[in-house]
Amino acid sequence: MTARILDGRALALTMQAEIAAAVAEQVNCGGPRPGLAAIQVGDNDASARYVRGKIEACERAGFASFPYRLPADTTEAQLLNLIERLNSEPHVHGILVQLPLPCQINEQTIIGAVWPIKDVDGFHPTNQGLLASGNPRFVACTPLGIQQMLVRNCIATEGAHAVVIGRSNIVGKPMALLLMSKGPGGDATVTVAHSKSRDLAAIARSADILIAAIGRAHFVTADMVKPGAAVIDVGINRTSKGKLTGDVDFHEVSKVAGAISPVPGGVGPMTITMLLHNTLRASQIGQRQS
Ligand code: NDP
Repeated sequence: MTARILDGRALALTMQAEIAAAVAEQVNCGGPRPGLAAIQVGDNDASARYVRGKIEACERAGFASFPYRLPADTTEAQLLNLIERLNSEPHVHGILVQLPLPCQINEQTIIGAVWPIKDVDGFHPTNQGLLASGNPRFVACTPLGIQQMLVRNCIATEGAHAVVIGRSNIVGKPMALLLMSKGPGGDATVTVAHSKSRDLAAIARSADILIAAIGRAHFVTADMVKPGAAVIDVGINRTSKGKLTGDVDFHEVSKVAGAISPVPGGVGPMTITMLLHNTLRASQIGQRQS
């Protein structure tokens, strides 16, 4: 079997064009232009690349963008001050703080300081609670993008056994909650595995949909995959030669799986697209509340 490639780059372009059309219509009808503030603290190369990618996507879709690049020695109080200002800035509908932050800044404090109605990353405990209680508002962009990838590629989740490897707050947990939610892209039977799971290979092999969010290059091998399963690779790892690679042994697993997302060009572009989706929604929520 040769797996169908789940092309996140192509789907992201399609969805970003849909979002751009919705923005143009909103603005033409006198509504607000969605605005995203993107804060980076320090000069981590990978963070700079991610933020740049997000800002460029925003601009292509007709959003206003407000980039902030703060020095690495920024204090928690200084960052909180900026967030407080942006919380009450009417042109800013979404606030993104690129993680990780330098060690003098507590990430949970910062995540909790962004107003939940501007939390387009979906990391705030209020938004995570809304998702857990079946009433989602802003859902973390990576799992939301994966759900879209499944839906738009007609990969049935209803009644399927989905195995998520990884239980982080930003990927694994919200992914599991989305897959078990009621409705399109949900209604799956979900198993969450992690570093303490016993016989992980057998658990993974029982999956119709296998989602790897681990952060270890080539962790998922062909013997861990049920023939015909859909395999989604969330991982971003660098090989010793600096090449970008996922958590799945793409070459071998694509001979067994029915569908597989590549790295790069799979989940990454969908994550950015969902940030735009959430920011557009935030501008509409802001409108209803003003
Ligand atoms: P975390 O490090 O927060 O979580 C990793 C998870 O993998 C943990 O739950 C951990 O288990 C589990 N794990 C680690 N080792 C093993 C093992 N040997 N067996 C089973 N489970 C294991 O990472 P994130 O969730 O933030 O990210 C995961 C990956 O996805 C990373 O490579 C990250 O770069 C990438 N990523 C990609 C995005 C994209 O847009 N493409 C966006 C966000 C992340 P335990 O909890 O027991 O420690």
